[in-house]
Amino acid sequence: MNKDVYVVVEQRGGCIEKVGCELLGKALDLAAALDQRVVAVLLGDGVRQKAENLFAYGASEVVVVDDPVLKEYTTEPYTKALVSVIETFKPEIMLFGATFIGRDLAPRVAARIHTGLTADCTGLDIDPESRLLLMTRPAFGGNIMATIVCREYRPQMATVRPGVMQAILPDASRGGKVIAHPVAFSPVDMNVEILKITAEVGRSVDITAAEVIVSGGLGVGSAQGYQPLRELAAALGGEVAASRAGVDKGWIDRDRQVGQTGKTVRPRLYLAFGISGAIQHLAGMEDSDIIIAVNKDADAPIMSVADLAVVGDLREVVPKLTRAIQKYKEQEA
Ligand code: FAD
Repeated sequence: MNKDVYVVVEQRGGCIEKVGCELLGKALDLAAALDQRVVAVLLGDGVRQKAENLFAYGASEVVVVDDPVLKEYTTEPYTKALVSVIETFKPEIMLFGATFIGRDLAPRVAARIHTGLTADCTGLDIDPESRLLLMTRPAFGGNIMATIVCREYRPQMATVRPGVMQAILPDASRGGKVIAHPVAFSPVDMNVEILKITAEVGRSVDITAAEVIVSGGLGVGSAQGYQPLRELAAALGGEVAASRAGVDKGWIDRDRQVGQTGKTVRPRLYLAFGISGAIQHLAGMEDSDIIIAVNKDADAPIMSVADLAVVGDLREVVPKLTRAIQKYKEQEA
């Protein structure tokens, strides 16, 4: 009999990835609907001492596979470890972050244990009658939302992109149990040897962590057109982002793209300049706390999701706004 909602919590260099905590928050809702528990799975080398941190985010148990073989992520040993966890504990549901690692690991595990996997879910729920996991994701280029169920096989597995779900506020009073789950690795599991790891310095940016996002679309007009947006972002202590159109033009790096095929963001403030608000863009930012849109076209779809819709030319509005914020900060200093 399968039971409990499992979350594979990713760590890099011993640091827990935020998406793991977000998924624990969602797992709490699912587990409550099923009257089951939330279990985190932590894989790595020397990660045992990090396990207790996950209780505060909703896990009531943490299964730890701690082994030097798992120091760096490689597909085969991580797959073997997770398959062993699944065969031993028999989860009802298993959630993964749709990160580079999750996107590699989850399909491999699903194939190995012969179950289904729904990738990049934007909604997860429990059907009160069948008690099945309802996994919702955009389909056909984002034109429809499809809800998918996995009736026959267990665990029901899904990946969710960072920023889509919300972590609960950590509650240090929550406790739980850590279960060490040793796995016997052998040399045949090590089909890949990592010779060297080179971290990309200063190139990649995590816009999902930004509290303020200044985003520009095709209306920005050119690569240089993003410079005033960078100045505004600097004044606000935020990050610059873009629609896919801006990225496809080569005006800005792809890791700053917001939307269905970019990142999902949920900042406190999202400023959209010269972005029309296509459904694929809205999918990545509509849960922001406050949305301000500046567009020449009063009928652009972004205007109807904005808390403040400004009809105007961004080339006039952006520098004025930057100056006003800089002046305000000088007065406050
Ligand atoms: P446009 O739609 O061309 O809008 C430009 C806007 O700028 C207009 O509203 C115009 O009025 C305004 N404007 C022009 N000049 C000014 C000015 N001087 N001042 C103020 N306003 C001005 N898109 C994404 O963003 N993210 C995704 O992840 C994504 N994924 C996709 C996945 C699929 C499968 C598909 C099919 C599409 C995807 N798209 C995505 C593309 C999406 O459909 C739109 O084409 C794209 O978002 C449009 O970008 P935009 O709003 O910058 O450009």
